[in-house]
Amino acid sequence: MRFTFSLILLLGVGTVFAQDFVPPGRNKIAWHQSPNYTPGRSMAVDTVVLHHTASDNLAGTVKWFEMRESRVSAHFTVGKDGSIIQHLSTYDTAWHAGRSLDFFGRTSVNRFSVGIEIVNIGDGVDPYPVEQTLAVEHLISVMIRRFPIKQITSHEHIAVPPGRKPDPKGYPWPTLERFGLPMYFGRQDG
Ligand SMILES: [Zn+2]
Repeated sequence: MRFTFSLILLLGVGTVFAQDFVPPGRNKIAWHQSPNYTPGRSMAVDTVVLHHTASDNLAGTVKWFEMRESRVSAHFTVGKDGSIIQHLSTYDTAWHAGRSLDFFGRTSVNRFSVGIEIVNIGDGVDPYPVEQTLAVEHLISVMIRRFPIKQITSHEHIAVPPGRKPDPKGYPWPTLERFGLPMYFGRQDG
């Protein structure tokens, strides 16, 4: 009996995994809800935080953020092909920055930021294809229309203690200069 139940459970799980993740394609958004967030906002949103996934697999990141056990999320993940996945509402607080301190001396950056994960293994060599950087720009321009964004920052810059996070390593920051916003990257103590 127990064996039968386990088998059904396995088959059930198998069915879930068998539904292959299909990336929505360049500049298109698909929603895969993460359970890892705090409902609402305790501060007004004015910051965009960029990350790298430390993996070259968009599907794997989606699965990771869908798992309650991971205790992490971001609002969006951008694939190498420019596919955009939204994991939760930007009016809710994602769990992407961890212990953090921004240029303005504010802690817990999750409270007032939108988190964007960018698929890249993060070795400083893996390229960010133009389809991907354009999708990131597209997403940031939407955020600028939605919120009074006053800075774009790297996770590396806000991570506490300094050096805790290196991401997004090797990102082409000049592609974001056209927004005319202050950009903070590199280590705060560096
Ligand atoms: Zn990060």
